[in-house]
Amino acid sequence: METFTYQGGQLHAESVPLEEIARTYGTPCYVYSKQAITYNVNDLKNAFGGHPYRICYAVKANGNLSILRHLKDLGCAFDIVSGGELERVRAAGGDLTKSVFSGVGKSEDEIRLALDANIGAFHVESLGELHRIDRITQETGQTAPVALRINPAIEVDTHPNIMTGARENKFGIPMEEVLQAYRVAAKMSGIRICGISCHIGSQLVDSRPIIEAVRQLAELSDRLSDEGIKLEYLDAGGGLGICYQREHPPKASEYVDGLWDALGQRSLTLLVEPGRFVVGNAGILLTQVEHIKRTDANRFAVVDASMTELMRPALYGAWHGILPVRKEQEGRQTCLYDVVGPVCETTDCLGRGRKLAIADGDHLAIFSTGAYASSLGCTYNARPLAAEIMVDGDQHRIIRPRGDLQQMFASELPALE
Ligand SMILES: *Cc1c(COP(=O)(O)O)cnc(C)c1O
Repeated sequence: METFTYQGGQLHAESVPLEEIARTYGTPCYVYSKQAITYNVNDLKNAFGGHPYRICYAVKANGNLSILRHLKDLGCAFDIVSGGELERVRAAGGDLTKSVFSGVGKSEDEIRLALDANIGAFHVESLGELHRIDRITQETGQTAPVALRINPAIEVDTHPNIMTGARENKFGIPMEEVLQAYRVAAKMSGIRICGISCHIGSQLVDSRPIIEAVRQLAELSDRLSDEGIKLEYLDAGGGLGICYQREHPPKASEYVDGLWDALGQRSLTLLVEPGRFVVGNAGILLTQVEHIKRTDANRFAVVDASMTELMRPALYGAWHGILPVRKEQEGRQTCLYDVVGPVCETTDCLGRGRKLAIADGDHLAIFSTGAYASSLGCTYNARPLAAEIMVDGDQHRIIRPRGDLQQMFASELPALE
């Protein structure tokens, strides 16, 4: 789907000119397309066809409540990784009883919170955690639905910082310990085993490793079944990649067909936990050029967005497309620029060596920033969090105002005299 397009030389989000958004709300701000989110979810749903499935959107990709509400309306459940994300899903009216709680370090308070909310399942990542959950259920008399998260020791072709299913990563239970862990869980009175899960990495542009992981999990489910441990679902995790530059990620249908093929005739519900796929290309970061700065060595476009709105380049050397909001304006020479933010860090560079024809005051759109941009935002250098805007057709609405510095100060209390 073409979400952000030039119409009459001006970049639009759906039918709204980005200049109008910049004028109305100021910059920097994130601009999301509701129709693109709908399109991506429907793409995935259509791929599943008549098979039993559940989409648990990974809240950490973008947890804005308007986005969660929209995804709930589209029939999604959620994958959460903290008590805070649980509260986000609750506040958005999402169905926690169909949602899953992932993460290697769930605290006692978070486990209690999730039990009280009747969470769909805990995805347990260690024996220690299994014992902790069991002990809490002994105290409270509740039952915890549990799936074990397996580390299938599969390396994927993605950035090492977003690889999660390799042997040396902190995530999941090693393959050779899994059967024993299920046997232990099966004997616990407060635990109800409901599934098996994995999540081997993010921004996967080749579906073969994830299909191989699902094949291994499916075979494990057979061995469990032989021992009388019956599973309801297999969760393939998230990770489906998107195109940032020139990647060719699999189509949703290819990905889902591969997963079904690996599952074979087994009567398991298939869960997926997409994050980036749903929102990544449904958002841009809108920014304004503060100064063009020339030095002997370089030419910089200093913009009003920074690593505090988009951490991915600093965090994993990620590449994001950067285009001017107005195409071909008068009196601009095309040059190579490093597009940098005002934050006092050398890594605060949003794009290196970009060919742009720009001047002071121009607006730029930084692409593919619907996922892991706002949710990784921070207030370093006392920068308020950027506003978030949702576009739907020719309508636009602010879904989170710019952060309020006075509120931030008010929450900081005087020290001891
Ligand atoms: C981050 C995460 C996801 C989402 O990953 P994407 O690459 O955004 O699809 C899904 N499941 C778990 C357990 C995660 O940690």
